[in-house]
Amino acid sequence: MDEYKCCRLCPNDCRIDRRNATGVCRQGSDTRIAWAGLHRGEEPPVSGEKGSGMIFFTGCPLHCQFCQNRQISGSDGENYGITVSDSDMASIMLSLESIGAHSLNLVTGTHFIPSIINSLEIARKEGFSLPVVWNSSGFESIHGLELIDPYIDLYLLDCKTLSHSTAKAFCRTPRYADAIIPVMDWIKKRHPYTDIPHLKGTLLRHLVFPGELESTYDFLRYFAKHYKDSFFLSLMTQFVPPLGNVDFPKLTEDEYDSLVYLMEDLGIDDGFMQDQSDDDILWIPDFRKDVPFPEPFSDPDPVFLSIKHR
Ligand code: SF4
Repeated sequence: MDEYKCCRLCPNDCRIDRRNATGVCRQGSDTRIAWAGLHRGEEPPVSGEKGSGMIFFTGCPLHCQFCQNRQISGSDGENYGITVSDSDMASIMLSLESIGAHSLNLVTGTHFIPSIINSLEIARKEGFSLPVVWNSSGFESIHGLELIDPYIDLYLLDCKTLSHSTAKAFCRTPRYADAIIPVMDWIKKRHPYTDIPHLKGTLLRHLVFPGELESTYDFLRYFAKHYKDSFFLSLMTQFVPPLGNVDFPKLTEDEYDSLVYLMEDLGIDDGFMQDQSDDDILWIPDFRKDVPFPEPFSDPDPVFLSIKHR
């Protein structure tokens, strides 16, 4: 595919030929998937009753220090996943719809945008009709977004930080802080309003990093000024260190309350905030298993499993 011959799908702008080389995302032109199935751990309107139909892609254009999906993202050299053709991926999409998925949820698909488009085209010809959720770190180039945007109903986008120092510490590149604002501005221009019941627009996620509360305050102020009338906010407070031996300070009740008060002061009232006492979400997926998540959260897709074990 032409887009893979000189890849500029993300801000790394590698401009390499991915048919015979890999860039920062560590993926060639063959699509690789780490897991597909129903997942009930997303924001409630995205999961619906039976779960969101997730496809987790292998590789990532970012290599965050504390990536929860490090087995598949390549953050520390691990690169787990199976190779699929575009028609395999289309079959998985159709299968997710047939087992009751509320939405199709494409997780970190930035570096496979051309293949995803092909697969969606194939699936739609076969009757696929789910709303499509683009679930990403927001580390896309505008060129990549222009390609995928016509296929997307809801952006489930991270805004990890607007601070260069926090981006350097947690995303391993200060460039994230430069790249995310143009992405949010571009999406806001294309999709100025969000309609969560019908999964249209943008749900912006922000995870509070330990010891970086000031960075979150700055993000909330910027969000209120520029995006609160266009995007819904999902504020996540449960940072889970992926390496058990790393000891991070937990957000205190006073700090949590300070976030609630600031959001009230700023008039941010459309969105979701993680319950500080909810320990059910403190886990890290294990993608080597057919079911990487705790059982109440997920069911694997049968077509994905048959492709994985063929
Ligand atoms: S997707 Fe990004 S990181 Fe991967 S090769 Fe293309 S420009 Fe580089």
